[in-house]
Amino acid sequence: MTNPLYDALLGRHAHSDATLLHLADGKTLSYADIAGRVARISGMLRSAGLAKGDRLAMQCPKSPQALALYLACLHSGVIFLPLNTAYMPDEISYFVGDATPKLLVVDPAAKSVLQPVADKVGATLLTLDANGRGSFVDAVGAATPTADAVACDSDDLACLLYTSGTTGRSKGAMLTQGNLLSNAITLTKTWRFTSDDVLLHALPIFHAHGLFVACNVLMNAGGSMIWLPGFAVEPVLEALPRATTMMGVPTFYTRLLDADGFTKDISGHMRLFTSGSAPLLAETHDQFGARTGHAILERYGMTETGMNTSNPYDAERRPGTVGFPLEGVELRVAGRDGVEIPQGETGMIEVRGPNVFKGYWQMPEKTAEELRPDGFFITGDLGRIDADGYVTIVGREKDLIISGGYNIYPKEIEQLLNEQPGVKESAVIGVPHSDFGEGVVAVLVPEGGAPDVEAIKADVSARLANYKRPKEYVIRDELPRNTMGKVQKNVLRDAYADLLKTRDHTM
Ligand code: ATP
Ligand code: MG
Repeated sequence: MTNPLYDALLGRHAHSDATLLHLADGKTLSYADIAGRVARISGMLRSAGLAKGDRLAMQCPKSPQALALYLACLHSGVIFLPLNTAYMPDEISYFVGDATPKLLVVDPAAKSVLQPVADKVGATLLTLDANGRGSFVDAVGAATPTADAVACDSDDLACLLYTSGTTGRSKGAMLTQGNLLSNAITLTKTWRFTSDDVLLHALPIFHAHGLFVACNVLMNAGGSMIWLPGFAVEPVLEALPRATTMMGVPTFYTRLLDADGFTKDISGHMRLFTSGSAPLLAETHDQFGARTGHAILERYGMTETGMNTSNPYDAERRPGTVGFPLEGVELRVAGRDGVEIPQGETGMIEVRGPNVFKGYWQMPEKTAEELRPDGFFITGDLGRIDADGYVTIVGREKDLIISGGYNIYPKEIEQLLNEQPGVKESAVIGVPHSDFGEGVVAVLVPEGGAPDVEAIKADVSARLANYKRPKEYVIRDELPRNTMGKVQKNVLRDAYADLLKTRDHTM
């Protein structure tokens, strides 16, 4: 029986006493410990009648048992569907209705509201809490373990992962065993992971970043993880000296930089900090470098494709760029018509390679719109490739502002605004405008007192073409973000939809 993905992550280390997880209470779990749990969970799945191709949905706090459940699904050929712990029952109801899992494993606190959701699709509901307790554990205890992995090949579905829903309703991306395996192998090599690595794992495991990038890469390399329930400054500062690597989202780094105790010394024998899931401000990159001597490695990926690009491990890491396509991944910049555009110009980023998903679950039209017959996936991100081959993400196509027939890229304006005194960060959006179709609105988050908007306007007028200049400036305490730290521009667009309708903004 062969199951290459499971073998790469756990099967080949199944008898190893090497540590896989360092837990918060000082205890450790070895690869063999987790493999033992996987055999027991797989026994339960099979006795509950789950077979290859069936779905299992999980909305649980991060725990070793939740990780073992993911691995047991791979082991059994069951399609794993992790759900964001922030989702509300109505959202869960949508995903469960869409994916029709046979088993739903949830936090005990959510049992009463989610039981009807499970009943509606005839799914069994089990509970699992942050300490690894609940009816799930009882069911596992009662089953006969099975160490035999179900045979799978690279085209079989491993996971159904819903996109973050930043630009609209979340879509279920069908990821194959081959997608996950190729990304794990490539990233292990690109980022030089070995069994000596200790990864500080503070990401959630319901998202591609924390699960497929962090866990898969680390396990493929045979290293260990400092397993934190989530990101909080104190435990991360405490754990950093024991780690060799950390994978994070930009907010991890800004929060560390804001923390009092964050100095050069705490990075111990760290060799690599990575950032992804959202753009890393060049300012954050530079400040982090000045404080720690480490150049954060920014990379670019998405639910549908796993990882696409990475700044180099050994060569120059360029802030503001996401580096080069990974080995085996083809990236091109094209128009909506699919015709490649000249190097250096901005267009839609398309990606092809063994990492690209199989399509959206039960959405053949949407799949056909975004997956070209030649295998290129239209990412919805706008970007360019410079003369040295570094890729820059300019923004999302849905955030592009078209005002009076001109294309306006919010990032260009945001960069200028972020440099202004008294501005911590900014978001630039397009909202309806009676004359121009859309007009530009700047949302500013102040840093220590209100920024001088008149001074900002003067600087913007001196540096930006008339049509790009914000017609209104709004001050907010913070930007709306989802759980992965992504700015939700649709929330801002809704909030300020009437701003340019009510006043005279013709220029
Ligand atoms: P949805 O597709 O449902 O609107 P989403 O695209 O935010 O949600 P994810 O798959 O979690 O869902 O996120 C992938 C997106 O995150 C990319 O398409 C890109 O827009 C953004 N992203 C990821 N890494 C980076 C990065 N380093 N720089 C800029 N943007 C990034
Ligand atoms: Mg997306």
